Amino acid sequence: MKNISILGSTGSIGTSTIKVVRSNPDRYRIVGLSAGNNIDLIGQQIEEFRPVAISVSQEAQAQVLKSRLSHDIKTEIYWGKDGYKKIAVMDEADIVVSAISGAAGLVPTYEAILKKKDIALANKETMVMAGAIIMALAEDKGISILPVDSEHSAVFQCMQGHNRADLRRIILTASGGPFRDFTLSQLENITPAMALKHPNWEMGKKITIDSATLMNKGLEIIEAKWLFNLDLDQIDVLVHPESIIHSMVEYNDGSVIAQMGVPDMITPISYALSYPEHLKTDLPGLRLEAIKSLHFYETDPVKFRCLRLAVDALKEGGSMPAVLNGANEIAVASFLNEEISFLQIPEIIERTMSAHRPLAIDSIETVIEADSWARTKALNEIMKLE
Ligand code: NDP
Repeated sequence: MKNISILGSTGSIGTSTIKVVRSNPDRYRIVGLSAGNNIDLIGQQIEEFRPVAISVSQEAQAQVLKSRLSHDIKTEIYWGKDGYKKIAVMDEADIVVSAISGAAGLVPTYEAILKKKDIALANKETMVMAGAIIMALAEDKGISILPVDSEHSAVFQCMQGHNRADLRRIILTASGGPFRDFTLSQLENITPAMALKHPNWEMGKKITIDSATLMNKGLEIIEAKWLFNLDLDQIDVLVHPESIIHSMVEYNDGSVIAQMGVPDMITPISYALSYPEHLKTDLPGLRLEAIKSLHFYETDPVKFRCLRLAVDALKEGGSMPAVLNGANEIAVASFLNEEISFLQIPEIIERTMSAHRPLAIDSIETVIEADSWARTKALNEIMKLE
């Protein structure tokens, strides 16, 4: 029996993780949960799983939840930053699923590693902002970071049973998002509703916009660099609209190993929880005869500037990736609020990055400072546009 805490249990990854747990009640037990503001859903999750403790964002929400729960429920209900920390470090948990969206996932994930918890990592922003610190800490504490991101799960799977020294490069696949075939001038008129319709994946709003701008792929390049200890020139990206091949690894002798499956996060979540086993899921099998053909294209860095900005941030190093990430979160939120246009997202990020002098990242506090600086600067840049 593996005891699991889920940070971000009310989100897309969180609810898929709960489906995996539900399908394997003899293997997994939920001991901790956290939500942001969705107290209705976490209330249902508490009634179903009766975890040891949970956390929500605000004290008032915690009080409402307490008043609603059945009288025989003993779950401790916490709130705020301290509450998330309590869920991240609880003694009862063997593994923590890091599935809060955005930079808010960094500190609880860091705290969980400090407390020697294995991590099933969905929150790629943690790696983008603080990859060097996180990987060094994980090694020091002797814990495993198991990728949940489908591309990184694919790479991880393609590395099993192979000699790491023989690896030549990895190829991350990208669906290309809903605007893959749009011209630059068509991209000018994208609305949030259009960008929120992803062709292949059901995800939270922030990552769905990141997929439309291809920032998601840029963040994944940085995540892959740290997770698998790769040089930038060992990481390639290929647009693959069907999202059937989730990524590939090429070895020195020319062998390319690809991991395939129907595009559903249940598979990588299940593998992260059951590694090295592949447990049964309720997903239909992959029927290549029905799909018939798979397509591959190069990315277009002119149309999708966010991808280039992420690579620039990685090359620059230090605090620059955290600045890229913070500016992106502000720009995406402003786009969703219809304050800036789709093409202004990279513009805001680029202006913020240009104004930043990268600092060495030697502690989690420096990362948080860089993130906070980037958010203020990006907001100022947005105000200048009006
Ligand atoms: P969602 O927006 O669907 O869910 C986010 C979760 O985090 C919710 O439980 C939300 O709570 C909680 N949350 C949001 N902000 C805060 C905050 N400030 N403090 C505490 N909790 C917060 O996101 P996804 O599930 O799509 O993504 C989660 C992470 O996984 C992201 O980092 C994403 O990049 C990554 N990922 C997602 C994939 C996907 O298919 N969805 C694929 C690969 C990676 P509430 O809703 O209650 O407010």
